[in-house]
Amino acid sequence: MGGADSESAAEVCNNDFTTILAQEGIHHLLSGEQKVPLPSGKNKMICLLFSANWSRPCNAFIPQLVQAYNVLKDTGQELDVIFVSFDRDENGFKEHFKFMPWLVLPFDVNLQKILGNLYKVNQIPSFIPLGVDTKVLAKDVVGLIKDYGADAFPFTKKRQEELKAMDEAKRQGGKLDELFNGINYPFVSNKGVKIHPSELVGKTIGLYFGAHWCPPCRDFTSQLIEAYNDIINNNNQEFEVVFISTDRDHKEFDLSLTKMPWLAIPFEDKSRQDLCRIFEVKWIPSLILLGPDGRMISTNGRAMISLYGARGFPFTEPKILEIEASLMKEGDGLPQEVKDCKHEHILKLEMPKAYICDFCKKRGTFWAFSCDVCGYDLHPTCIEETL
Ligand SMILES: [Zn+2]
Ligand SMILES: [Zn+2]
Repeated sequence: MGGADSESAAEVCNNDFTTILAQEGIHHLLSGEQKVPLPSGKNKMICLLFSANWSRPCNAFIPQLVQAYNVLKDTGQELDVIFVSFDRDENGFKEHFKFMPWLVLPFDVNLQKILGNLYKVNQIPSFIPLGVDTKVLAKDVVGLIKDYGADAFPFTKKRQEELKAMDEAKRQGGKLDELFNGINYPFVSNKGVKIHPSELVGKTIGLYFGAHWCPPCRDFTSQLIEAYNDIINNNNQEFEVVFISTDRDHKEFDLSLTKMPWLAIPFEDKSRQDLCRIFEVKWIPSLILLGPDGRMISTNGRAMISLYGARGFPFTEPKILEIEASLMKEGDGLPQEVKDCKHEHILKLEMPKAYICDFCKKRGTFWAFSCDVCGYDLHPTCIEETL
């Protein structure tokens, strides 16, 4: 189809979606086994779902859409969803629409192409809402529905901005119960306790995003456990960590949890995904720190724990500045070079941020005595005897 042709066709389509169907000889849709008349789009929003049974992302999305759709129907929202099949044959098509509670366009390869071109569908699944006048309201909103479910309705730009503003308010608002979706007992632990958000009010909280399959997470978990235990023992329990798993399945989640002395959001709870979105977590491990007032202190808790451990608590800016200053002072009190009996070369004072001590094999941060020749490192406290 040429550029000019598809443009004029798009106009027709924008003016009246059903005209296109009529031109192609389509006079009814399917609803289960029943034939039903074409919706006019006059009183109800029409949404087009482009999907296919052979596509894994489509099969993953359909149950999410069914759930959102049922909520919208139950709350009386006026919308019709029409499935446009991108299946290769009628069997795939039938298999795919078996679980769909909405309207279905009869299988027609030619119409797939026409509608796909008209609505510029370049990937599936694609979900395109048309306004009551069947004009395209928004580009593909699959991502929006995955993120917000039925709350995404009516999918307009205005609604998208509202949802973003709501996320921002949750991120900055300092209201723990809102952040955890108003669920009464959103936290569990490997000891089987269930905890209400009010029990965390007034504490510094670390939201720990991680997964068992990720080796850097396992490494960070052990660092965090050490810091956590020290903080809890020294600070009257004013710290809590909540694990937000990005594990692939429940078994992996359970494995993650067995080692953790802190709380977790249950694997079944959708607020795991919400929290990833709200705090814009792009990689794991990630530790978001919230202050005792519930407001965010830092998105970089991972570096703070790695560098300062329990010493960094409560991780506020003045506290970090104080630590940095005392570390500088510590460095002033150390010699620039030493010769330790454990190593044949001269060791120089350096600030490598993080290293493993070649004597005690424990992690070290900030000051180290390092060998330029072979990369041997020692904690300042592991220097024994200078020759
Ligand atoms: Zn050492
Ligand atoms: Zn050396």
